[in-house]
Amino acid sequence: MSTFSAPRGTYDLLPPDSATYLAVRDALAAPLRRAGYGYAETPGFEHVELFARGVGESTDIVTKEMYTLTTKGGDELALRPEGTASVLRAALQAGLHRSGVPVKLWYSGSYYRYERPQKGRYRHFSQVGAEAVGAEDPALDAELIVLAVDGYRSLGLRGFRLLLNSLGDTVCRPAYRAALQDFLRGLDLDEETRRRVEINPLRVLDDKRASVTERLAAAPLLRDHLCEACKTYHEQVRELLTAAGVAFEDDPRLVRGLDYYTRTTFEFVHDGLGAQSAVGGGGRYDGLSEQLGGPPLPSVGWALGVDRTVLALQAEGVALGLPTATEVFAVPLGEEARRALFEAVTELRRAGVAADFAYGGKGVKAAMKAANRSGARLAVIAGERDLAEGVVQLKDLVSGEQAPVRLGELVAGVRAALA
Ligand code: AMP
Repeated sequence: MSTFSAPRGTYDLLPPDSATYLAVRDALAAPLRRAGYGYAETPGFEHVELFARGVGESTDIVTKEMYTLTTKGGDELALRPEGTASVLRAALQAGLHRSGVPVKLWYSGSYYRYERPQKGRYRHFSQVGAEAVGAEDPALDAELIVLAVDGYRSLGLRGFRLLLNSLGDTVCRPAYRAALQDFLRGLDLDEETRRRVEINPLRVLDDKRASVTERLAAAPLLRDHLCEACKTYHEQVRELLTAAGVAFEDDPRLVRGLDYYTRTTFEFVHDGLGAQSAVGGGGRYDGLSEQLGGPPLPSVGWALGVDRTVLALQAEGVALGLPTATEVFAVPLGEEARRALFEAVTELRRAGVAADFAYGGKGVKAAMKAANRSGARLAVIAGERDLAEGVVQLKDLVSGEQAPVRLGELVAGVRAALA
């Protein structure tokens, strides 16, 4: 018999750890749901062209990291490497912007990048994301950043920092791009980086290699080339964040690995994570809709990494207060009791109590062991004599105390004991 392992760069989410992932997803999404963001779900794969155009032909994601496939029908598809292009595509396709902007959407799902696997960097990972489509308003940029911060804080995360930058717009970026290119052409860079200088010079600023960063010390910064409109816009975002009690660090070199960003750009980093320190990021992407063939729809969004948020919680030693999976565990002694307690368990569940049952015809000892392992606070135990008297035994697994409860009053009895 052969056994299989999950593919390289992937991992399985299984109990008990999986409960933390679900809780993190819920916590990151909760602030969005309270702020008028509606849930969006798009396919796990799209036409390759959507990402080539949407994410950028010169990005690592598109050139190296996409899982692409040709279908039997000849379609060129790619597993989604990120969420923004898909969600914007879906919003445009449905014409959501025609019934009012901004269109505010949130999503949660799996993303795929063929990256070199390491701690915090996987080939299959999970994000919660949000996009506000069709409005240019610094308050919208600030809203999204505040919602991300509130999500992290609600989990008890403290050691994250917000890096903030503006990438300018079509008015001021071209001149800066040319100035940066001039500077970069004068440097001694490797072949691939030189090519990047010609295609997308801003991305060179994102290079993390010491040999490159050293040479960039004197590089011109977009901050010094922003047009008045971009400057004012950015200043407003900064003021709104400050007013909301959100601390940030200006990072004039922050560019991020996707081509579509304009103006506001940000990243959340966590210092307990080592090399893969980005727990989330996003920004404004005013030109993306047109790049995808849609009308002008200035937009802003972010994606937060669920895997890395879980790692950040571990790094800080934060344990989430998760609800108990099982509150009551039923232990039947004999056939008649099995039937009666199966019914009782069903009734408890329907009344909203998390209840489980000793399946597999176990003996009492094994059944009690299962009850303890389940983490349940209470065991409901019944044998023939109990049933003859119309009662079951309710045992507190922490204190060891046990008392009979009338079968017809089990739900009330359990509620009282759990309160
Ligand atoms: P991006 O879509 O690249 O802006 O990434 C947004 C967030 O997703 C990052 O800040 C990470 O937290 C997370 N992320 C991106 N790529 C990976 C990966 N390969 N493995 C785990 N998390 C990732």
